[in-house]
Formats: sequence, C-alpha cells, structure tokens
Amino acid sequence: MQNPGLGNAGKCFVDANGHKVPFSQLYHAGEDWFKFDARRQVDASGAKDEPVLAVANGLVSWKQNIGAEGWVITIEHLLADGSKVWSAYWHVADPTVSIGQLVYRGDVIGRVADLGQNSHLHWEIRTWGDGSNLFPPTSAGGRGTCNGRIPALGYTWDDLLARTSPNAWGYLDPVKFIEAHR
Ligand SMILES: [Zn+2]
Repeated sequence: MQNPGLGNAGKCFVDANGHKVPFSQLYHAGEDWFKFDARRQVDASGAKDEPVLAVANGLVSWKQNIGAEGWVITIEHLLADGSKVWSAYWHVADPTVSIGQLVYRGDVIGRVADLGQNSHLHWEIRTWGDGSNLFPPTSAGGRGTCNGRIPALGYTWDDLLARTSPNAWGYLDPVKFIEAHR
C-alpha cells in the first residue's frame, strides 16, 4: 500500500537519477496496529505503553534503536518444514529481550513507544532476517540513507518495477501468515 498523505519528504530511498523518493510513493511493508476505542472509533495515541508480545516461539535475532521511532526487534522462527521466517516489531520502547535470547509465544518483548498521535506497533513477517543482502547497492534502498538500519526500513520501493513491492523483498502478509500457521 502507498499512502499519498505521507507527503513529499524523502525517506531513505534514492532513485536512479539521485533523487530522494517521496515518502508517499513507498510501499508499506507491514501492518500498523493502533489502539481501537469503540466510542471514539480510533484512539491515535492510546497504544502507547501497551505490551508488545512475541507472535511465536523463536530466537531474538536483532534489536536496534532507531532514534525517535523507538527500537526495532526481530525474532527468528523455525517452521516445521525446516524453513525460517522472521517477525519484526517497530516503535518498541524499553525492550526486555536481548539478541540471542529464546522467547515463547506471548512473551512480552517491550511496549509500544510514545509517538504521540501516531503511537502504534508496526509489525512484519518476512522470509529473510539478517538484512545483509536486503537492498543491493544498485537498488533504490541501497542508494539511500537507511542502510544502517539493519532490520530493514519498514517500506520498500525500487526503480525496477519487479523489485518495487514488499513481496519482492520477502515480505508476507503478517496476519494471513499467522492464521495459516497456528
Ligand atoms: Zn508501519
């Protein structure tokens, strides 16, 4: 999904001509969970301090403070067929887990950071985890400014159409994946 409301500010990606790609053109690579308040329909700041839980048993594979947007935590999950997927949690405050730590489904790994009226958990399921070859140097992500964010960027975009969408970079629909693998 792209969100025109996000505006023209550059956000990490640089196109083949050296121009910053507007935030509004990027594809969102996960789901954003806000707090739902039945009376007010949505409570934009209410999710702050809510606990963030591990979606399944796994190994904490990355944890990084990305500044005002809080921490990113990724957990590696081994599936019954021997393959692996990674869950990623963004905008986490006060992480309670360390890299290399085993966690169990439902364990609290932190809480939702205070982002004011934008307080939410961004989370993802994807098929790669260490970030080492996420965005090659010749891609819009590799030309950009977010390469220090090892757990990835939360968004995708590329000047090659085949590499534009989150699917092209190994992202799965997180809720569908969980529902299919309970
Ligand atoms: Zn998000």
